Amino acid sequence: MTGETTDDATVGNNVQAEAPFYHEGAPQAFQRLWTPHRMVYIGGQNKPSDNTPAQCPFCTGPERGDEESLIVHRGRTGYVIMNLYPYNTGHLLVCPYRHISDWTEATVAEREEIGELTATAMSVVRSVSHPHGFNLGMNQGEVAGAGIAAHLHQHIVPRWKGDANFMPIIGRSKPVPQLLGEQRDMLASAWAIHVQEPGD
Ligand SMILES: [Zn+2]
Repeated sequence: MTGETTDDATVGNNVQAEAPFYHEGAPQAFQRLWTPHRMVYIGGQNKPSDNTPAQCPFCTGPERGDEESLIVHRGRTGYVIMNLYPYNTGHLLVCPYRHISDWTEATVAEREEIGELTATAMSVVRSVSHPHGFNLGMNQGEVAGAGIAAHLHQHIVPRWKGDANFMPIIGRSKPVPQLLGEQRDMLASAWAIHVQEPGD
């Protein structure tokens, strides 16, 4: 990370510009997407005002188009979406369509498909950006770190050697949607190819 750090004063509704980041071993494909002349972040945090489906980004997202909502793939009971507040480049979320908060509330079909979508997402991200590893997981409840605790979501975070210092900084910022949109396009295309040619 070579850019300026983000301090508390800049995390609000202000638009700010930061220098592009670089971390050793970052994938070439994503590196191009993530190194414009100036990396612009929008500081606003679109936290829901309550826990209802009407306020829930994981309920309202699928009601709009894939590009607008940054959806990479739609399954039968769940779907895959770009995280608006990524810990790392290519950070995806797998969500059930249903507004449930806890893994124990998921049906067998939802659990199976979330597992399958997670595996496919890993394969797709590997094919695009060759991470060295992944963090997978679900934060159950706000106390456990869930940003949108009301709606279950599985994190898929690609990891590269040397990227750790980057996480707490980007975790509080929102990249401009265009950059995430370019990533979405790339991952959605790779997903379609993967489905046609499984076994990669
Ligand atoms: Zn929801």
